[in-house]
Amino acid sequence: MNSLLLTGGRVLDPANRFDAIADVLVVDGKIAAVGTGLTAPAGTPAYDARGKVVAPGLIDLHVHLREPGQTAKENIATGTAAAARGGFTSVVCMPNTAPAIDSAGTVALIRERAAREGAVNVFVTGAITKGIAGEELAPIGGLKKAGVVAITDDGHCVQNNDLMRRACEYAKMFGLPLMDHCQDYSLVTDGVMHEGYWNVALGLRGWPAAGEEMIVARNVLLAELTGAHIHCQHLSAAGSVKLLRDAKKRGITISGEACPHHFTLTDAAVAGSEKFWANDGQSLAAAQGPTLPQWPAYDTHFKMNPPLRSAADREAILEGLADGTIEVLCSDHAPHCGYEKEVEFDYAPFGITGLEVELALSLMQLVHPGRLSLTDLVAKYTVNPARLLNLPKGTLSVGADGDVTVFDPELPWVPTAADSASKSKNNPFFGWKLKGRAVATVVGGKIAWQVAA
Ligand SMILES: [Zn+2]
Repeated sequence: MNSLLLTGGRVLDPANRFDAIADVLVVDGKIAAVGTGLTAPAGTPAYDARGKVVAPGLIDLHVHLREPGQTAKENIATGTAAAARGGFTSVVCMPNTAPAIDSAGTVALIRERAAREGAVNVFVTGAITKGIAGEELAPIGGLKKAGVVAITDDGHCVQNNDLMRRACEYAKMFGLPLMDHCQDYSLVTDGVMHEGYWNVALGLRGWPAAGEEMIVARNVLLAELTGAHIHCQHLSAAGSVKLLRDAKKRGITISGEACPHHFTLTDAAVAGSEKFWANDGQSLAAAQGPTLPQWPAYDTHFKMNPPLRSAADREAILEGLADGTIEVLCSDHAPHCGYEKEVEFDYAPFGITGLEVELALSLMQLVHPGRLSLTDLVAKYTVNPARLLNLPKGTLSVGADGDVTVFDPELPWVPTAADSASKSKNNPFFGWKLKGRAVATVVGGKIAWQVAA
C-alpha cells in the first residue's frame, strides 16, 4: 500500500510557502492533494497528525553509509534505518568507501543495493579524484551518467589547486555541484582537535581554524574563476562563515552546510563534561535538568573532523544559519566501531553518528531559542538541499514523491545506544535530554518508521 492520508497536522512546505493546518493525501506513492477536509479512496490508511508538524520528507545530504567495504561500521540497511528513525526520507552518501565511489560500476552497485535494502531513498556522490587520492581526476562524466548527484572527496580535500580547478570545469560542464571537505593539509598536519586554549591544556596537537578557512577562500576564488558551484561541507569556523557571506553578496556560486555538533558543542567538551558545563555549556545546562550528562576528558566521541571549535566559532555558525549564509543542515553521520574509538584520543578515527539526533539538536539550538523560524529550519532540511543537488524531492507539491516527515518540535526524549538503529554507537548525545523528534517517516506513501506509542 503506497497511499496514506495524514490528517489535521500543521503542514509546513517552504517550497510553496505553505503553513496551515491541513491534510496531506498520498496516492500511489505521490502527493495527490494538500488541503482541508480531504477524503481518500476507500481502503486508504489514515495517520492522525494533529498537534504535529507535517513537512516534506527531510533530506540529509552528508551521510557515510560505509558500503561497500566498511560494513562493520554501517551498511545501507542499517544506515537508512537510522535515517528513517531520525525523520529522514532521503540521504546522500559520501564516496570515501572501500573502494571509493570513483567509477560507474560502484555507483550502480550502491544504487541497486539501496533500491533493494534501503529503508529510505539513497542518492550517491562520486569522488572528485581516483581513489580519493587527490592526484588524478575521476571519470566525472561517467559518474554523472551513472547517476551521481555531486562529486566530493569528503574525508579528504584536493590540495592541488590546479587539479581542483579542472574538477570545477568538468563538474560545471556536467551540471554537477562539487562538495568540498575544506582542510589545508600543510596547516592542519596531524592536528586532532581545535587549536586554541584547550588543546594546549590537554597536550593534544592543534587543528587551526585557518586550515578550514584557507580552503574556503580557495573555493571562493575557484567558483568565481570557473562558475562552478562549490558547496563547503561541515563548516566549523567563524572565518569560513564570513568568507561565505561576503562571497554570496558578490553573487558567487558557493554555499555551505553545518552540523549540529559544531553548533552545539565546543572544544571544551574534549576536556570532559565538568569543564564543558562550567564554561561553554552553561546555556545548554538548563535543558538537562539537575543531572548533567557526564563524560571524561579525552573522550573520543568528541573527536571529529573538522574539530569542535571555540564558543565564538559556534556562535558564528549559529549566526550564519540564522542569516541564511549557511543554507543546509546535515549530520555528517560517520559511524565507527566501538573498538576503533576505544583507543587514545590521538589514534581514534574522526567522526560521530548523527542521523537520529540532528533534528532535535537543530530545533534546540535554532528554533527553540528563536534564532530561526520553523519554516526556515524545515527549508534547510528539504527544499534547500534538493535545489542544491537537483533532487526531485523536498516539497509537498501535488505530483511530487510521497515523502513526508511528521515531527513534534516539543517532544522530550532521551536517545540511547540501545535504541539506535545504526550499527555503530559513537554518539556523544546518548543520555542527553532532547526536545523535538520525528514521530513518523513516510517514504513514497509508506510509513518507513514511526515512534512507538
Ligand atoms: Zn568531511
